[in-house]
Amino acid sequence: MTTAGALLRDATLKLTAAGLETARLDARILLAQVLGIEPSNLFNHPEMPVAADLGAAFSALIERRVGHEPVPYLIGRREFWSLAFEVGPETLIPRPDTETVVALAMTVMPRPPERLLDIGTGSGCIVISLLHEWPMALGIGTDISGAALRIAASNATRLGVGERAEFRLGSWTAGAPVPFDLIVSNPPYVVRGDLAGLTPEVSAFEPMTALDGGVDGLDAYRGLIPKAFGALRPGGILTLEVGKDQAGAVLQLAGRAGLQHLRTEPDLASVPRAIAFQKPSRTE
Ligand code: GLN
Repeated sequence: MTTAGALLRDATLKLTAAGLETARLDARILLAQVLGIEPSNLFNHPEMPVAADLGAAFSALIERRVGHEPVPYLIGRREFWSLAFEVGPETLIPRPDTETVVALAMTVMPRPPERLLDIGTGSGCIVISLLHEWPMALGIGTDISGAALRIAASNATRLGVGERAEFRLGSWTAGAPVPFDLIVSNPPYVVRGDLAGLTPEVSAFEPMTALDGGVDGLDAYRGLIPKAFGALRPGGILTLEVGKDQAGAVLQLAGRAGLQHLRTEPDLASVPRAIAFQKPSRTE
């Protein structure tokens, strides 16, 4: 029988040789997952014995990680907004950048919305986090991937907002009754020509339909913004995630659709990442 410490040492060497910068951390997270314990317990008890079948299960995960499969897919979850979200290859892995969208929506809403819509919900991370913050709100998440919606629905139930969340298959509003007080979205926005150059963790494993924004990266905004305008109540708010260098173009598209710019919020790397707009209260 081997020990946790010995397994971690070997795995860290393998992952480092594969060029993974987070080798030690990844190894610890994956072994903790296999053993069903917290990663910090491993740190304190390297002498912990590990049975052969668990050691083999760990080696299999390390091999997949050597092939650049992202850790959240290997363990099936990722933390977002301090909540544990289930993720799978059908959903993007929620990113800290996207927490900027949640925070901005909360900042700009003058009062909690009664009904909100998340277009292209994926794992459901944005709508579920907002429903968690606003205990009286009802939320709808749409997606063109039925597999993603199954994960979103399971997240909503597990995180205690299942009764106030509905998930619908389809584009944009997917036929949901309108209007909404708030619409949020992190649409696919990667410039098509940049897709192949993303890190292998992203390009080989994350769902292309959630990333590919067309030739200039703006296809989804062109479709989404007019639809969102039509689905918002007068005075309602739209909060969007945008890619690097896209804020200006998205402001233009929104302006042309009749939306007023409220606020742009940078992410942790100071990149303009989330933009909030308001539909005018009445049209003169
Ligand atoms: N932030 C993601 C990336 O750069 C893209 C997410 C998206 O297209 N909405 O990999």
